[in-house]
Amino acid sequence: KWNPNCLVGLGEHTWSGEFDEESFSSTDHPDGERRVQDSFVGLKNLGATCYVNTFLQLWFHNRPFRQALFLYQPGPQLGSATQEVFQANDVCGQLQLLFALLQEGCHQCLDPSPFVSALGLDTGLQQDAQEFCKLFLSLLESKLTHQPNEIVRNVISKEFSGIYAYITTCRRCGLRSSRPSRFFELDLNIQGHQQLSDSLQEFFKEESLEGENSYFCDHCQKKQSASRRIELIRLPQTLSLQLLRFVFDR
Ligand SMILES: [Zn+2]
Repeated sequence: KWNPNCLVGLGEHTWSGEFDEESFSSTDHPDGERRVQDSFVGLKNLGATCYVNTFLQLWFHNRPFRQALFLYQPGPQLGSATQEVFQANDVCGQLQLLFALLQEGCHQCLDPSPFVSALGLDTGLQQDAQEFCKLFLSLLESKLTHQPNEIVRNVISKEFSGIYAYITTCRRCGLRSSRPSRFFELDLNIQGHQQLSDSLQEFFKEESLEGENSYFCDHCQKKQSASRRIELIRLPQTLSLQLLRFVFDR
């Protein structure tokens, strides 16, 4: 049952029998669920949602992002004037509510189910964490575009997204072309490196485009050997670095 290689519990019920839900949630002392003052609040893993929880905690601890989310104004809700309990009606509202509970709540641990189901995620399916991060930040950015407050509208771009450019220089005529690109993180190769600075150095290293990889120069109007490197144009307030621990081997 606890085999970490059994990723989604595939066929689990056929060999492990009935699942005892109580064994997870039962706590003999209700006080044990109460948050100790000034401690952080945890998030319950709903099956394979640790990757979501990881990012929720990271984003929560980003203060400008959290503050901006608190300024988010949900759209009009049907019957909201008479509702006694606040109900978030979209992903941004759910995130706002979750942040509020992580900050002010009295429970030691929270259940992020409403947020996860608002995103339509399968709780039993492990997803690529980095992919989730990029997709979610893009989604959030598009959802926040109509917010009246400028801080809320621009928070994703300011906090998390930067711009770099591929600079290609023709070795014959010296023509320099720049192709800007937006990023949420820098993908760093770590194989063969001892330190982060070495990975960064490799990331910004100039590469040669020769032979089959030659570059079509607009000035020379033919394929030429060229050099290419990445140049940072704008950095976000929070720079994310992805360490490429896995390499695809066909
Ligand atoms: Zn050229």
